Amino acid sequence: MARMPVVFFGHGSPMNVLEDNRYTRAWREIGRALPRPRAVLCVSAHWYTRGTGVTAAQAPKTIHDFYGFPRELYALRYPAPGDPVLAARVRDLLAPTEVALDHEWGLDHGAWAVLRSAYPDADVPAVQLSIDGTQPASFHYALGRRLAPLRDEGVLLAGSGNVVHNLSLMARSTDAARYDWAVRFNDFVRDALARGDHRALVRWEDAGEDARRAIPTPEHYLPLVYCLGALEPGEPVRIAVDGIDLGSISMLSAVFGAAPSG
Ligand code: ZN
Repeated sequence: MARMPVVFFGHGSPMNVLEDNRYTRAWREIGRALPRPRAVLCVSAHWYTRGTGVTAAQAPKTIHDFYGFPRELYALRYPAPGDPVLAARVRDLLAPTEVALDHEWGLDHGAWAVLRSAYPDADVPAVQLSIDGTQPASFHYALGRRLAPLRDEGVLLAGSGNVVHNLSLMARSTDAARYDWAVRFNDFVRDALARGDHRALVRWEDAGEDARRAIPTPEHYLPLVYCLGALEPGEPVRIAVDGIDLGSISMLSAVFGAAPSG
């Protein structure tokens, strides 16, 4: 079985789900172009926990973890099956880090907002791994490393977050001016990805004031760190789509590893 690529999705506002825009089209194209996975393991910004958990339900529920959005968003369901066998495999791979098999969580919007574009038939089993918010970036990078063998087992590792994500400075209008620091930090990430400079990306705090504004809290950035951890040195990166939405949200999505199969 060929090694699966790794994908980082910049999910942005839940409103993208209701739109047909260049981001949702890029997510759809990712699903079409990549080898079909036997399952997806998604690290979403929106499952940020104390300790690490993995969803182990047979039929994970769709979680509408956002407030004040149009009713039709809350009516959406993404009925992808779970994969308890994969959940157990993840727990084993991450040992000696303890991983709780979770039956309470399901698929949050960080996961389903992008997966419903990539796999609209909801026929690829989906499992989520939580992000332990008490741990430093180096820990998350190491977990990504331990998950790498899944790539040879037909599993698509998918991070879902945003490399620039500042809600308190976010503009209300989608055509708002992009903040200079948001553009600069997004460029910093792009350049480091192109160089394969994982050290700079894992130690983003060293990037100074721009990084502090781009990543006021790390939950939307850390899914990228899992993706990086699962890569071999020198694997190619392709920016699937990029842009700054609402002034302060980077919509950068990237595909790492194998070239698209067409
Ligand atoms: Zn989010």
